[in-house]
Amino acid sequence: MMNLKSLIRDIPDFPKKGIIFRDITTLLNDAQGLHQTIDSLALKCQEKDLRPDYVVGMESRGFIFATPLAYQLNAGFVPVRKPGKLPGAVYSIEYQLEYGTDRLEIHQDAVKRDSRVLIVDDVIATGGTAKATAELLQNSGCQLVGFAFVIELTGLRGRKQLPDVPIISLVEY
Ligand code: AMP
Repeated sequence: MMNLKSLIRDIPDFPKKGIIFRDITTLLNDAQGLHQTIDSLALKCQEKDLRPDYVVGMESRGFIFATPLAYQLNAGFVPVRKPGKLPGAVYSIEYQLEYGTDRLEIHQDAVKRDSRVLIVDDVIATGGTAKATAELLQNSGCQLVGFAFVIELTGLRGRKQLPDVPIISLVEY
């Protein structure tokens, strides 16, 4: 087993002063690191018996982890995208950022009613993005079974924002 944290690169003052950006491109670049990341996420999902029918990933770094995880768990993959990117009928949600607001969209027919859904992203920071995605899914009448992140910035207490379902993370800062 390798230490995944050692493969994540810290970039100070990106995208702005005072933020330490946790750069996962160096983790993705490492064949063994990538393999272990996906396998570890899948194993934790199995240990918690999450059995998702769909894995939902947020644009764009969420896609990188959600898709191979969905494949591994024999689930479908569903993209949650920035406004105006999805061609079909969408549900849309506006959510608060540090400065201003942003919007996320999902295809209305992407997840079936009563299906089991797992939300995946690279990093949970404040939890705002994951919380908005969970709210977006409420339109579909599906069952949210959990969240999985590669990195959790624990100091920001993002998990406090999220509904009461299992929350998986592999590396904590
Ligand atoms: P939040 O909505 O605050 O939980 O932020 C989550 C999104 O912001 C994730 O999609 C991350 O990719 C990104 N993010 C926030 N903080 C960082 C950080 N320090 N390093 C890398 N990505 C970050």
